[in-house]
Amino acid sequence: MFLHSCVPDFEPRNQLNFRLQATDGKARVGIVETDHGLLETPAFMPVGTQGSVKAIEQRELLAVGTQILLGNTYHLYLRPGTEVIEAAGGLHKFIGWSKPILTDSGGYQIFSLSDLRDVEEDGVTFRSHLDGSTHVFTPESVILIQRKLGSDIIMVLDECAPFPCDVGYAVRSNGLTLRWAERCKEAFEKEPARYGYSQALFGIVQGGVHAGVRQQSARTLVSMDFDGYAIGGLAVGEPVDQMYEMTALCEALLPADKPRYLMGVGTPENLLESIERGMDMFDCVLPTRNGRNANLFTRCGSINIRNAAYKTDFSPIDPECPCYACTNFTRAYLRHLFQAGEILALQLATIHNLSLYFWLMREARAAILEKRFREWKQQTIAGLRRNQMVFS
Ligand SMILES: [Zn+2]
Repeated sequence: MFLHSCVPDFEPRNQLNFRLQATDGKARVGIVETDHGLLETPAFMPVGTQGSVKAIEQRELLAVGTQILLGNTYHLYLRPGTEVIEAAGGLHKFIGWSKPILTDSGGYQIFSLSDLRDVEEDGVTFRSHLDGSTHVFTPESVILIQRKLGSDIIMVLDECAPFPCDVGYAVRSNGLTLRWAERCKEAFEKEPARYGYSQALFGIVQGGVHAGVRQQSARTLVSMDFDGYAIGGLAVGEPVDQMYEMTALCEALLPADKPRYLMGVGTPENLLESIERGMDMFDCVLPTRNGRNANLFTRCGSINIRNAAYKTDFSPIDPECPCYACTNFTRAYLRHLFQAGEILALQLATIHNLSLYFWLMREARAAILEKRFREWKQQTIAGLRRNQMVFS
């Protein structure tokens, strides 16, 4: 059904529309409107790096409440190749997904995956982690690729500074990232959308954990007037308090009428703390990756379902969870599936963990609307911390 509903029946907009509906302290509820549908914020975006969220099919993603998927420019450019996706009519058609898609620019992957990279003013030369072939990404080429992918939200090319990095490195890196952001904006305005619907462009605030650099990054990007603002370069190994501090610092400088996306964050607790600090959108591999490793988030703490304690535990993973895995199967069965190496184990664990993240987002929105976010957050975190396991 959704294969045939990719092309919208209304006029494309020039700009992403964000409607702020309510606030409670800094926490916000809003709606991001795209030509592929609405996104209720705070929103979690499952990570579909290669055009697929691991161990879960598209109809299940819809069933658990997914409103937007994340794809990755670096991976899709290398495989299957931009030309294949363009020939398919864009990423939505290629992967059979009619709701919004956001694509990351690939900057983070270049710096974390490719073994040889050369960063220059013009762009970055890197070697594919797949076959060692050499490629160049420039701000202009990354915009062109994302125009061809047809993602609803496009990210600028940035350099993700490592942690730790000294202030000198952060200043130089941020200068380059800002000049790249400006070139991305120019290229975005010159390069038309391909498929009859509009696309939006987000800037990315960088600057490591250096307050002054972060502030300069945020101020400069805001003056360039992007459709939304991401905060990148956090959750890369810095203490969590610094992550929250940098998030709050950026939030104070970002306009209230644009969505804010905290990249790569995080645990359920990180999400709630960041919502309290005014963030609207999140992506993270934790629910899916941890699920595939038998680590399940529940309202009463995290569990490793391989543990012998669950051998004859015929209760649901989480008795309060309405997901398909929890309403149909037991902990004992899921443990058995993991022990037996069955693919269904990964599927059920992924369905459950994503369901828990979407439950958190729904409850957060309700709590903000009812002006009881802080109280709800504290109670929820107390529950999530029971049996808390350390995840790497
Ligand atoms: Zn569940």
